[in-house]
Amino acid sequence: MKIILLGPPGAGKGTQCKRVSERYGATHLSSGDILRAERAAGTKLGREAQRYMDSGALVPDQLIIDMMMGAISKCAKGYLLDGFPRTVVQAEALDKALAAAGEKLDAVLNLEIDDNVIVDRMSGRRSCPKCGAVYHVSNQPPKVAGICDNDGEKLVQRPDDRPEVVQNRLKTYHAQTEPVIGYYRKVGRRVIDIDADKPMDDVSHAIFSELDALK
Ligand code: ADP
Ligand code: AMP
Repeated sequence: MKIILLGPPGAGKGTQCKRVSERYGATHLSSGDILRAERAAGTKLGREAQRYMDSGALVPDQLIIDMMMGAISKCAKGYLLDGFPRTVVQAEALDKALAAAGEKLDAVLNLEIDDNVIVDRMSGRRSCPKCGAVYHVSNQPPKVAGICDNDGEKLVQRPDDRPEVVQNRLKTYHAQTEPVIGYYRKVGRRVIDIDADKPMDDVSHAIFSELDALK
């Protein structure tokens, strides 16, 4: 299975990718998670990416393309792309690499949601710095407030989930990432719109029905 999840930051891509990955066995590849791991490890890529991420801008295309192509090449059982591609240039590079390898995407899932809902989701998002689990203070709280259910680690708020950065990330999404949906429609990929402004289980159910129908 080779699937792309598109949608604004905070739409629920990561949340749904975990569930899809558990059900179908494809690897969840989140460009944001990979970049945060590079930052935590203090690599050259991580250091270069830092200032873009903290301001809500996109990391330059070529850095991302090289990073993601490397990750994709290791996924023999298929993958769910979360946060990539985020520009038309990245989508074209992915298409070129897939064509060269004789492979094809199964579908693009487009998570649709209004900006005002997103602001609430991002301001309430908390994550575990150790295992990467994602919670929401009211929509998906941990058993003990502020503590990860999996490993007891203290949960943190991502620096780019602060309100002033969220506004920039939304602007970036509308200017640079939304056109990727039009690109995939234009080149004839199967684009499936999903209403993401629903409870998590309802969104998962809608995604599972679409993916089951693809098989
Ligand atoms: P993305 O990966 O698209 O940035 P996340 O999956 O991290 O988004 O979700 C953003 C926040 O919204 C998280 O705190 C998550 O717990 C919460 N969330 C995700 N899906 C839903 C939903 N359907 N309803 C309510 N809250 C949600
Ligand atoms: P995310 O975790 O997907 O919200 O990504 C966090 C940040 O990482 C983004 O705001 C960007 O700065 C950077 N980033 C993640 N994926 C990409 C991408 N495909 N292209 C450029 N920048 C990215």
